[in-house]
Amino acid sequence: MNSKEAVLSAARQFLGFVNRSPSPYHAVEECRTRLLAAGFTELREVDKWEIKPSNKYFVTRNKSTIIAFAVGGRYVPGNGFTITGAHTDSPCLKVKPVSKKIAHGYVQLGVSTYGGGIWHSWFDRDLTIAGRVVVKNGSKLEHKLIHVDRPILRVPNICIHLQRDMNDQFVFNNETQLAPVLATCVQQELQGPANQDENKKEKHHPIITKIICDELEVKPDQIMDFELMLADTQPATIGGALEEFIFSPRLDNLLNCYCALEGLVNSCEGDTLNEDPNIRMISLFDNEEVGSSSAQGAASMLQEHVLRRLSSGGGPTAFEEAIPKSYMLSADQAHAIHPNYSEKHEMQHRPGLHEGIVIKINANQRYASTAITQSILREIATRVNVPLQDFVVRNDSACGSTIGPIMSAKLGMPTVDIGAPQLSMHSIREMCCTSSVLQSVQLYKGFFELYPEVFASCDF
Ligand SMILES: [Zn+2]
Repeated sequence: MNSKEAVLSAARQFLGFVNRSPSPYHAVEECRTRLLAAGFTELREVDKWEIKPSNKYFVTRNKSTIIAFAVGGRYVPGNGFTITGAHTDSPCLKVKPVSKKIAHGYVQLGVSTYGGGIWHSWFDRDLTIAGRVVVKNGSKLEHKLIHVDRPILRVPNICIHLQRDMNDQFVFNNETQLAPVLATCVQQELQGPANQDENKKEKHHPIITKIICDELEVKPDQIMDFELMLADTQPATIGGALEEFIFSPRLDNLLNCYCALEGLVNSCEGDTLNEDPNIRMISLFDNEEVGSSSAQGAASMLQEHVLRRLSSGGGPTAFEEAIPKSYMLSADQAHAIHPNYSEKHEMQHRPGLHEGIVIKINANQRYASTAITQSILREIATRVNVPLQDFVVRNDSACGSTIGPIMSAKLGMPTVDIGAPQLSMHSIREMCCTSSVLQSVQLYKGFFELYPEVFASCDF
């Protein structure tokens, strides 16, 4: 058992990560900063790589996906890869390409829904914007991150007096009733940026453009384009009467991004890396919430390209030899049993908070776990003293999926799907237990250190 102090300390460190990561771009930048501090070298996809044993590297794509790896001291091309995968994106509202929207004296912002969010949870929250802006600076195009640190937006609920059946069913239209309010036209005329010519075809209202320009210290005509997400301004916190919960946005799946990174970095601190025949890797992909099919998603060629590069020089079949020696932990959040909806879980498969990391299994291959990959994980978890739980969905319920089945099918790599138990998945504010952070870090660290030895002990 971990001490309460150790559990809380690990959970608090995670809060810092999630609070600084309101968008996938911020999450990748946060990983980048931590990896550089831990002695990893940044590589670029466009360069030739010179990879040395016992050294550590990372590469990013689209600034929203990151792959980091530590090369074992005994690695030669053709040896295996010990991989933990997760995703950097979360369901959210994104600012539309043309967002200017004026209605009944209000300045609003046009937003698109990204992924399968619980959109009603976005009502009556104090929202801001975060993401990236491409800025023209002289002849250069520059990539800048933005996170406005004050509540500038809100999607107001309709008053119950005007919709009496609201508590029976809360139904709303995603296009017409989910648009946030930015300002009133009255106030805008009094103190806003210079009033626009009504006939001028601006894509974004001058109020939002001014906020972006002030934050980045650029002029409106320098903004080439942007991808901006809405985010809650309420920071993640430890909660519950006994300080045992984490109330936070984006637990799915920044919890696993953070823990995978910590597990990798921690595994490199002792001298086990020098004796490792494998490459230890974390692969944190964007766009899982919309099916992973993008240049930077888990369904792209990125993972294969990186593994092929690292296998090159080992003969014509080094990559093909490496795959069956490899193993991927596909880490994505899992559903804890909900006290008010217990009938939604299968009777014998009800993961509890504080009761360990969940192995996700599905007879129809919505998860990639097999008896072999599960057994290997169980052996590692036993050795590092992290409890595991099993999950299958009810036969009469649809099953979610994740990057595990996509990547294992593409690469032919043995994979297990796991995750920490949580509630309120895909809400703007989710909930899990403090134990999950330290347990996940310990499991991933143990996986990186022990996998080659456990694999070598498999008599099949
Ligand atoms: Zn997820």
